[in-house]
Amino acid sequence: MPFEVLTMGRVGVDVYPLQTGVGLAEVTSFGKYLGGSPTNVAVAAARYGRSAAVITKTGRDPFGDFVRAALDGYGVDCRFVGTSDIAPTPVTFCEIFPPDDFPLYFYRLPKAPDLDIRPEELDLGAVRDARILWITGTGLSEEPSRSATLAALGHRAKAGTTVFDLDWRSMFWQEQGSARAYYAEALRHTTVAVGNLDECEVATGEREPYAAAKALLAAGVELAVVKQGPRGVLAMGRDGTAVEVPPVPVDVVNGLGAGDAFGGALCHGLLTGWDTARAVSFANVAGAIVAGRLACSDAMPTETEVAAKLRATVPQDRATPDDFEREV
Ligand code: ADP
Repeated sequence: MPFEVLTMGRVGVDVYPLQTGVGLAEVTSFGKYLGGSPTNVAVAAARYGRSAAVITKTGRDPFGDFVRAALDGYGVDCRFVGTSDIAPTPVTFCEIFPPDDFPLYFYRLPKAPDLDIRPEELDLGAVRDARILWITGTGLSEEPSRSATLAALGHRAKAGTTVFDLDWRSMFWQEQGSARAYYAEALRHTTVAVGNLDECEVATGEREPYAAAKALLAAGVELAVVKQGPRGVLAMGRDGTAVEVPPVPVDVVNGLGAGDAFGGALCHGLLTGWDTARAVSFANVAGAIVAGRLACSDAMPTETEVAAKLRATVPQDRATPDDFEREV
């Protein structure tokens, strides 16, 4: 059976402080979690009962064993998790200064194993047949991962839903000026683009949400989703329909992971066949729930949790997702 959600790219171990509001210099204890954006998206999708797998690589070390065990525990298939000898499994630290400052510290140098994914190692049948393929901008940052990501996109040729998470992390790019050309190439093979304002600007040169969404559509996608953190989400379709979903109120604990929760929930909505307004409203709530929790992968909500918060937070006079939709 084809996977419902097949993601590709970063994996690692998130080592997150158990004290908030203080810097790493003062922190004394940490929690250990599965991490890496596309890995978290697969975990989030699996929480909704979706069959999910991730194409990635760990180092040959105990943290690699932890990654596989954690994926297994979350119900994400590990068959495409390879091992690379180029470096150990990356770890990522963060600092937690709620409500809006969460610096990340990546330990991925000189090169992370997940950037050592090679085109010839891909299971092209699985890539083509997955109902959703989810790739990221970081996967384009270095070879051989860049060629592998573009090979996967090219082979898939827009079959099913192909999501490009614009996922811009400048520190992963040695030649930052080359990024836009690779982003443009990937967008040509993409049906859904998802990004925050910084990421949209790298991909298109636009950071005003409507201008950015229109530029993504012009680059070839059918649905452009612009995430705006605590300001909610804009989604625009090729048919000219725009959906603006306001944020749901949440006491933010750690904003990291909200985007991945949003992504997994968006996959679930698209697979279910919901219209854009409903899928984005659901994903908006999933993102807010994870912003209110410490962990990322470990914090992904179930459908029951999202539905309950959606019912509790959407005002009665805007009770149906259609109310968010309007023509532009
Ligand atoms: P990313 O981490 O990829 O930049 P965002 O921070 O935009 O993604 O978060 C993704 C989505 O999660 C947002 O578009 C929004 O729907 C929800 N979200 C994130 N932070 C908050 C917040 N503080 N309050 C309410 N919703 C949030």
